[in-house]
Amino acid sequence: MTDISSKGAPQYNPLESMMSRFNEAVNILGLDDHFASVLKAPDKVVMVNIPVTMDDGTIKVFEGYRVVHSVHLGPSKGGIRYSMDVHLDEVKALAAWMTWKCAVVNIPYGGAKGGIKCDPRSMSKGELERLTRGYTLSMKDVFGEDKDIPAPDMGTGQQEMAWILDEFSKIRGQNSWGVVTGKPLVLGGSQGRVEATGRGVMVSTRSALAKLGIKSTEATCVVQGFGNVGSISAKLISKLGVKIVGISDISGGYYNPEGIDVEAAIAFVANSPTRSLEGFTAGEKVSNSDLLTLPCDVLVPAAMEDQITAENAADIKAKLIVEGANGPTTADADPILNSKGILVVPDILANAGGVTVSYFEWVQNRLGYYWTEERVHRRADRVMKMAFDNVYAASGKYKVNMRIAAYIVAIDKVASTLKLRGSF
Ligand code: NAD
Repeated sequence: MTDISSKGAPQYNPLESMMSRFNEAVNILGLDDHFASVLKAPDKVVMVNIPVTMDDGTIKVFEGYRVVHSVHLGPSKGGIRYSMDVHLDEVKALAAWMTWKCAVVNIPYGGAKGGIKCDPRSMSKGELERLTRGYTLSMKDVFGEDKDIPAPDMGTGQQEMAWILDEFSKIRGQNSWGVVTGKPLVLGGSQGRVEATGRGVMVSTRSALAKLGIKSTEATCVVQGFGNVGSISAKLISKLGVKIVGISDISGGYYNPEGIDVEAAIAFVANSPTRSLEGFTAGEKVSNSDLLTLPCDVLVPAAMEDQITAENAADIKAKLIVEGANGPTTADADPILNSKGILVVPDILANAGGVTVSYFEWVQNRLGYYWTEERVHRRADRVMKMAFDNVYAASGKYKVNMRIAAYIVAIDKVASTLKLRGSF
């Protein structure tokens, strides 16, 4: 654990969390040090400063990053995050997680991630558009349908992807539909992309509940984060018959042991001037840290990194944790969760539904042939179920938890490709 709080970054370093799991899996696999060192280091780190004219006429310079971790399995893929907490080590960790995630679900992509240090909630639409176009221009030699393909992440969505598509297409002088995924439907987006990550979390939850012998209609669930991943995970898990007893977002947590009507909460946020749960009254207000230790069977952290740590892991009451967010559990919390017998479906498996449907979107863009929502759901559910079963089997084979099993499956796949390609 590194204290980098002096730079305004969080106390935990997600890159160290990622590396500690990577090292454990590499040791179990007995992977040659030389290959491990290639897989550890990102292929490319790009840092840019983006000047933006703000609405009041002043010029502000924003720091932007793109880290390409690997391109061994295919073009690199990964979202772009807009947040004041963005820092280089976070982007490096998120890029590596994308490599492992694509390998776990067996899709032909490497891993990348981007980020801009900004507060999108305090910026106007025009400022966000100028920032996104400036970032795309700076990354014109990094992005490309066969090179590096961005997507949404925290603080970004369909609108930012549409601007990236437009700016990149102007630079190239032709429409480049496949350069970005998570686009609006009318601009070559895929059916089912918006729900894809939450849907994958639901499929993982369903598979894990079955392994634990817990009936969904008798289970309760708490979800942290109520953005794209959290709200849709909550909605789809509730459709399995699970009672959602707690939800939360940046405004705090809301607890109701009788169950929360998730659709009503989604409608509340859509109509709220702050686009948050602030003022939501269908549950007792609790803090985001108390939310994590509420009594429940399933806990879905779907907000941000470093939420379940050595400090609170012992107090967690859930029997199952399904990681919707990237890196919500720090490495020092893993042994505590293990000792409590909590089954953790790790981020690189549980939230891989998003990149899976991003891949489907890219395939459709290249074919110029678009699938029905039913086909997207069916194929994505099958990918997620197979990946879950594969990782679960590896956890039995190597006698490790599902997180290390997922890293083993992923690293083994990328390392064997590297050996075959023999490019160094
Ligand atoms: P989002 O911006 O749509 O939503 C983030 C949510 O977290 C919001 O409800 C916000 O209020 C809440 N939040 C922010 N800070 C919080 C805090 N301190 N405590 C509690 N809640 C807080 O983002 P998203 O796309 O839903 O992404 C959430 C997580 O899922 C991130 O870790 C992201 O990397 C990961 N993820 C997203 C996708 C995707 O397709 N969007 C795919 C895979 C993984």
